[in-house]
Amino acid sequence: MRVLKFGGTSVGSAERMRHVAELITKTSEPKIIVLSAVSGTTNKLVEIGELLSARSLEMAHLAIEKLFSEYQDLLKELLASNEMREIGEEVINNSFSLMKNYLKYPFGKSKNNELLAQGELLSTGLFNLYLAENGIDAQLISALDFMHLDENGEPSLEDISIKLQKVLENYPEQKLFITQGFICLNSEGDIDNLKRGGSDYTASLIGAALNAEEVEIWTDIDGMHNNDPRIVENTRAVQHLSFDEAAELAYFGAKILHPTSILPAQEREIPVRLKNTMNPEAPGTLIDNTGVTRTVKAVAAKDGITAIKIKSSRMLLAHGFLLKVFQIFDSFKTSIDLITTSEIAVSLTVDDTSHLDDIVLELEKLGSVEVDPEQTIICLVGNFIMENGEVVNNLFNALEKMPVRMISLGGSKNNISVLLPAAYKQQALKQINDVVFGLKVMEIEKD
Ligand code: ASP
Ligand code: MG
Repeated sequence: MRVLKFGGTSVGSAERMRHVAELITKTSEPKIIVLSAVSGTTNKLVEIGELLSARSLEMAHLAIEKLFSEYQDLLKELLASNEMREIGEEVINNSFSLMKNYLKYPFGKSKNNELLAQGELLSTGLFNLYLAENGIDAQLISALDFMHLDENGEPSLEDISIKLQKVLENYPEQKLFITQGFICLNSEGDIDNLKRGGSDYTASLIGAALNAEEVEIWTDIDGMHNNDPRIVENTRAVQHLSFDEAAELAYFGAKILHPTSILPAQEREIPVRLKNTMNPEAPGTLIDNTGVTRTVKAVAAKDGITAIKIKSSRMLLAHGFLLKVFQIFDSFKTSIDLITTSEIAVSLTVDDTSHLDDIVLELEKLGSVEVDPEQTIICLVGNFIMENGEVVNNLFNALEKMPVRMISLGGSKNNISVLLPAAYKQQALKQINDVVFGLKVMEIEKD
């Protein structure tokens, strides 16, 4: 079994849906297709939910009508026969009559979750009809029948595995299944979701639950890039990453994958492949734990970082100082990303500053405190890169003359992180591309 997840842009129009149908029918081995909502839909549903919560009923009504007409258009473009269009009307009406009902009654959190689920219910419902109309044998299964959260609001792999297998047993001959990403039931039996961007997580959970051969995440770029293509001109797709490398990259800014989404696949060692719907021939990025190389793979940047330095002569030759510092952050449920220490000072970074003032007040009891907002963590990712003197040397050369605030090397074999004022991010990423990855953009010679 292979699990293929297509994101919002991949199912963003009738034309894109047709293209997905082509992609998934190229080979005949068993597959489960996980779909996101049509791109933009979940955002619009969030807005409608906000209007309903604020009792701006007139505006909510307009927003619902606008979305409704977008789906009418999609339906006409996607389905050819009147018969199929009639069934499509029903799919759309199911969702939109529910939404219109929200205008009449009190609207709370569980209704909001039900509202957000409509995006994936619509995309899978319509896509399924397109397949049927074109003679492609597929079975739509509801994620609500197997994607269930436990009392802690977490998906339980064992439970999902049992329930999903039961669902699949109903269709022993079936080779192609379609289901919704993102949506689930919580332990109260109400509709809930796996948080924004959660469809990747759905695919990874299904892959792990069924011990799939592979999980494929289809988006609109050809895999993880070695650098941020929005900032640096000459980037390349990384063909292979270990799970740890991918997790570091996802956490430190590569937007293509949510940091926790591949954990279930990682636990069961299911390879995850990132592919590009617009360029299906491109190899994409394979994430698994085979063929570990000792090379540098990519660089990512995380903005919105605040550095905090605590300096105290009491730290000299004393024990327990760091413990006290950590306890303060812990008591405000604020996690620390980078940390560097000297004998009389410790510097650390946070990205959540919601309790910063209180934290600083407590830290001031231990020593003098300096806070530097608007910093960026630049994180170089690869395997054993800290042992590779050339990489370390090139990194420092690339950052020459930049006011590096912290360096963290040796925390794991997978990353070297440096902290810089945010204003230096672009320059740092470009120079790292030139010097560390050797991808300098050559000036075209003019004669
Ligand atoms: N449709 C949901 C969202 O936009 C889930 C997803 O696309 O992954 O967040
Ligand atoms: Mg996504």
